[in-house]
Amino acid sequence: MLVKGVVFYLDSELPTEAKLLLEDFRLAVNNAIRAGLQARVTSRNALVKIAYENFREEHPRMYAKHLVSAFEVAGNVLKNHRRRVRKGVTCRIPYVKRLLMKAENQAYKLDRNSGIIDLPIMAGCHVELRLVVSQYHRKYLDDMSLSLGSLTVLPDRVMVAFRKDAPKPYAPESALSLDTNERSLDGVFVEGDVVKAIKAEFPDIAVIQQRHHDRRKRLQKKKAHDRRISRNLCRREGTREHRRIDYRLHQVANSVLKFAEEKKSAIVLENLKGFKSKRSKELNRRMSVWPRRKLHQIIEYKAQWKGIPVVKVDPRNSSKTCPVCGRIQYSRMGAVFVCQCGWRLDRHINASINLLQTAISKGMAGGLRFNPGAFQHDVMMILYEPAMAARSEPNGTSGIAGVT
Ligand SMILES: [Zn+2]
Repeated sequence: MLVKGVVFYLDSELPTEAKLLLEDFRLAVNNAIRAGLQARVTSRNALVKIAYENFREEHPRMYAKHLVSAFEVAGNVLKNHRRRVRKGVTCRIPYVKRLLMKAENQAYKLDRNSGIIDLPIMAGCHVELRLVVSQYHRKYLDDMSLSLGSLTVLPDRVMVAFRKDAPKPYAPESALSLDTNERSLDGVFVEGDVVKAIKAEFPDIAVIQQRHHDRRKRLQKKKAHDRRISRNLCRREGTREHRRIDYRLHQVANSVLKFAEEKKSAIVLENLKGFKSKRSKELNRRMSVWPRRKLHQIIEYKAQWKGIPVVKVDPRNSSKTCPVCGRIQYSRMGAVFVCQCGWRLDRHINASINLLQTAISKGMAGGLRFNPGAFQHDVMMILYEPAMAARSEPNGTSGIAGVT
């Protein structure tokens, strides 16, 4: 079962009854957390057993299903807390500050035509929440193959979980093999006898990360006398950075998947598990913040949702091997891979050819075959570049190729 959370903003302010419900819900969560900590339990059922009666006496009219989902939220908080404690991380006793409530799918009604949510508060009291529905939201509301999951209510917006069974991936007719690099996805597209280079470039991600990193360092220095302010400012920087990068990663993933879907391709990626680099401290920092894993997660998740097959292969020696004669070059390479047999190719694209060959040799690419000799050296297809972004940055970061 796949789940996709879709955020809707509210047409008007949250009704007072609903605001009170959010507060009651938070109270129930925090009570259950305390009870769970004392009794050393984390499961929803155990929490219901120890905390239900007490809370019921204080809030006799609260809708019972909401109370049960409050226990579920508390259980999740407790599980996370227990995990941190086991890892030896020092942390405070958990306490939910945010106003939020969760309703299971039987505990609310959503009219998918009008976008109105009917939320029961207590016996005999319901509120209507009008959602702002855009074209993007229509895609989910009108697709009747999607069923409704839980609803999360926040003071200014709600999140509706849409669920569907994972579609069966199609049998691939072509392959898209991608080597993941700091500033681009480089790879080959193989269809029949044709092998072409492809590229999805995102040089601005590294620029954005460097810029926010510098800014955080400057803030820490400037506000060194006040750690609270420094921490808050840095957190704000972090949120902004996170949003800007996420937006770009989704754009890159979307363009790659659109291409793959049109051509009925299987996507080949390197398996990033156990990725370690033995390079300089600065390069290690850049590599560890560079969200390649995040990009892969987004691609895999979206592919699953659309039924596009994704194959992950062990990248060992993929950048050092000659795909034509199989020699492994242990000496350091420049930007171009050169082999004694006469094979020359961009290092990254060469790596993607090796990834594809590994996938094919393991029978993971659905019976596809290909010959690296058929590579068309003069063709390069661009799947994505920053200029294709739906919106540009106010400071003109999009499109800068050089990185400081
Ligand atoms: Zn060779």
